[in-house]
Amino acid sequence: MRILLTGAAGFLGSHLAERFLRDGHEVIGLDNFVTGSRENASLLSKHPGFRLIEHDISKSCYFDDPIDGVLHFASPASPVDYLELPIQTLKVGSLGTHNALGIALAKNARFLLASTSEVYGDPLVHPQPETYWGNVNTVGFRGVYDEAKRFAEAMTMAYHRHHAVDTRIVRIFNTYGPRMRPGDGRVVSNFIVQALRGDPLTIYGDGSQTRSFCYVDDEVDGIYRLFQSNRVEPTNIGNPNEFTILELADVVLEETGSGAPIESLPLPADDPKVRRPDISIARSVLGWDPRVDLREGIRRTIPYFREALGRSNAKARTL
Ligand code: UDP
Repeated sequence: MRILLTGAAGFLGSHLAERFLRDGHEVIGLDNFVTGSRENASLLSKHPGFRLIEHDISKSCYFDDPIDGVLHFASPASPVDYLELPIQTLKVGSLGTHNALGIALAKNARFLLASTSEVYGDPLVHPQPETYWGNVNTVGFRGVYDEAKRFAEAMTMAYHRHHAVDTRIVRIFNTYGPRMRPGDGRVVSNFIVQALRGDPLTIYGDGSQTRSFCYVDDEVDGIYRLFQSNRVEPTNIGNPNEFTILELADVVLEETGSGAPIESLPLPADDPKVRRPDISIARSVLGWDPRVDLREGIRRTIPYFREALGRSNAKARTL
């Protein structure tokens, strides 16, 4: 297959591109490098089956080659990024999704949308099944990401129903691992970078809010299976083991052996109090289950950040 992957130089995009390349497929990677990294792109460029096109998918583009699959992963995904890039975030989720679906329609290609657990907002149902419609503040700062992805899901289903495009929607829950930028701003990269540098670990609020963290290899395996399945409805892919942010800080301090202190910062507006995927559907339809627990995943991630910090003076980024 020839795959068009938007956001190929990003954290998840680059891992997913590698997965397709490893299985003998060709990948055309699109990225505008707003949050994607040149390092990821040059890693991928070593594969003969990879081609990079520097382009913003919010603007239309045309391809001469046949394309069998379009996967739309381009978007800022860290709250720190979408606070800084609100318009780009709205555009890549709306116009970008429209353009990517247009390519899938023109090429008769399968389409997969990278959606998010953020469509559930600050959830009133716990854990979150795919049937839950969510609790989102449309006008809050997170609304630019949440509503863009909700629009993207609606657009994807419209192309499926109206144009018969063969579509998939993955709702991705908090994912971490090697290749996150040290300054990404999300909690796992922040805590590991802070612990390794000896900077205080910045806990927003009292740290009792929860998240369920999925190691990147598990996440990519679930997405890959979903792409190959025939399930059109949105599908949660995430690790259902739930931790408070304070528990995460403890695991990071233990695994890095760091004596860094803890610093309290205000809780950002609309920060979801709890989050945990119901993955019954992924289990039964895809035969997928995450394998890497949090401690093991953190152990696998630390050497990457140690190396990255050895090469640059990068710091964590806070809201
Ligand atoms: N968080 C924190 N310190 C940080 C970064 C994040 O306490 O330096 C908290 C944040 O308030 C949220 C959780 O960690 O409750 C996950 O935040 P992240 O930005 O990773 O992703 P989110 O799930 O909120 O999109």
